[in-house]
Order: sequence, then structure tokens, then C-alpha cells
Amino acid sequence: MKMKVVALAGGTGSAKLLRGLSRAKIDLTVVANVGDNFWAYGLLVCPDVDIAMYTLAGIADRERGWGIAGDTFAVLSQLGRLGAETWFRLGDMDMAASLLRTGYLRRGLTLTQATAKLAERLGVNDKILPATDDSLQTYVRTPRGLLHLQEFWVREKGRPRPIGVEYRGASRAKPTRDVGEALARADRVIVCPANPITSIGPMLAMRGFERLLSRAGGRVVALSPMVGKKPFSGPAGKLMKAEGLRPDSAGVARRYSRFLDAIVIDRGDIPLAEEIERTRVSCVLSDTRMRSLSDGERLARELLRA
Ligand code: GDP
Repeated sequence: MKMKVVALAGGTGSAKLLRGLSRAKIDLTVVANVGDNFWAYGLLVCPDVDIAMYTLAGIADRERGWGIAGDTFAVLSQLGRLGAETWFRLGDMDMAASLLRTGYLRRGLTLTQATAKLAERLGVNDKILPATDDSLQTYVRTPRGLLHLQEFWVREKGRPRPIGVEYRGASRAKPTRDVGEALARADRVIVCPANPITSIGPMLAMRGFERLLSRAGGRVVALSPMVGKKPFSGPAGKLMKAEGLRPDSAGVARRYSRFLDAIVIDRGDIPLAEEIERTRVSCVLSDTRMRSLSDGERLARELLRA
């Protein structure tokens, strides 16, 4: 029997690891962040669900880290000509998933059902589950007011100083039954390298999610998205600081310590290992930068063993 693995995933860093995990002989279920979902031109755009889907379908643009390889932007430029805002780079092929998804939701399907239909058409063999079917969106508090995560990071390029984060809808949102069942059955849960505040944070903000992780079938292990005092990419560092966490692998381990068994951190962060192990999270040292597919495959194997 294949090992049942559930991977909690955000965007670009997670996709690099998912590519490696999808090549392991495992039964893989991805639980994707929905906190960065947003509405544009009447469509529900789900960046993290879609990057997981495109990655596992083998059509993701690996260089850019988002969207579909070889996509064009004709619809977006025409939208611009017609006076619409175009700061979110939604490609022509990429938009097709959002068009169909929105139609499915209008016809009464859940986001889980809509995602399954799209992933099946793209030939994805692994399962992709949105963390919740309920509305759950991440907002960043800044001196200029509250900004949706996409407004903060994509439109404003992360320039406003973050003061804190709000997970709108978290008090009512519930992890889906499919997510609960996958976690209960899992032989291993992997927390992909993802922004702990804006990608994994929305899942943890839902009532009951941490309990599902604590009761998960197998060990819960994470690959740190941080090296030294910084993330490999993106705004994780300043958002961790805004939420009172130290922006390094020890801060990540501390945020996850209620449910985490082990964390893979970069060899250069060996001075943090002792501090992390004091929170009862075991530490594995490795080369955590993923430059190639083989790095992702190697780290996937290490996480399956950790
Ligand atoms: P973002 O912070 O908005 O980019 O949200 P994501 O959840 O997509 O975060 C991607 C995370 O992956 C970032 O925190 C990066 O530091 C991390 N990341 C990107 N590339 C790598 C890599 O090669 N190795 C590891 N370990 N983490 C990575």
C-alpha cells in the first residue's frame, strides 16, 4: 500500500516541493490555502489552488513561479483598454479555470467539487482539496488601512508597513469534511515551505484545524521557508514580525509547535537547532533551497523520512 501523504500548501515555494512529492510513489493529497482567493471581473480567482493544480498537471510556469507556461495576456490587455484594473497578471489560459470555477459555484457546486472537476480535466492524478469551502480571506493591516493580501503584495508590491493580519471569515469557516478525513487517514502530513502567516496561517485560524493536525494519523513535518533571518522569497519575514514572530526557522517552528513533530531547516541555521528542539520539535538539517526538480525530489524524500 502506498504511503498516504497530505501536504499543506501555499504558492510558489510549495509548488517546488509538490513537484518533488508528485514524483514519489505516494498517495498525495494537497490541502491548498484559500486565504489569497479574490474576486476579479466577476470571477473567483484562487491562486494557490491553481498553482497546485498547474504544477501537478505539469503545465505550471516554473520560471515565473505562477500561472501557466506559455500563457498570453490578450484578455487582460483588452480589459485594461476597457478601463479595468489589471495589476493582477491573470493570463488567458489561467483565466479559463476561474471562468469555469465561477460557473460551477453559481450552479451550486462547492469549491472542493469545482476544483476536482478542473483538476480531473487537466489530468491531475493527485487530490487537491481547498482548505475550506467557506469564505476565508487574508487582510493585512497597514498605516494606510486594511488591504486584501493581493492588494498588499501584488498591487502595492508589499510597500506599506504591515502592522498585523486579519483572517476574515475565520470564525465561521470550517475545514471541509474531505480535509478532515484526509488528515485523519494520513501516514504523514507535510507543511510545505509557505508563508506561515498568509498561506498556512488562514488554515490554522479556522476553529478545529490545529486539532485535526494534532490528531493526524502520522507525523507532521515541515520544510522551513526561511534561511537565516529571511524567507527565500516573498513577504513572510515582515509579516511574521508584524505578528510577533521572529522571522527565522525558529519562529516558524514556534508558530507550528502545537502540532509539529519535526522541521527540516537549512544547514546554515544549525545555531537555531537547539532552540527549536526545546519546543519539542525535532530538527533535521539539509540544503533547503530548491533550484531544480532534483532538489525538490531530494527534499520530498527527506520529509517522508523525517
Ligand atoms: P508568499 O510569501 O506570498 O510568496 O507566499 P507563499 O506561501 O507562496 O510562500 C512561498 C514561501 O516559500 C516563501 O516564504 C519562501 O521563502 C519559500 N520558498 C521559496 N523558494 C523556496 C526554496 O527554494 N526552498 C524553501 N525551503 N523555501 C522556499
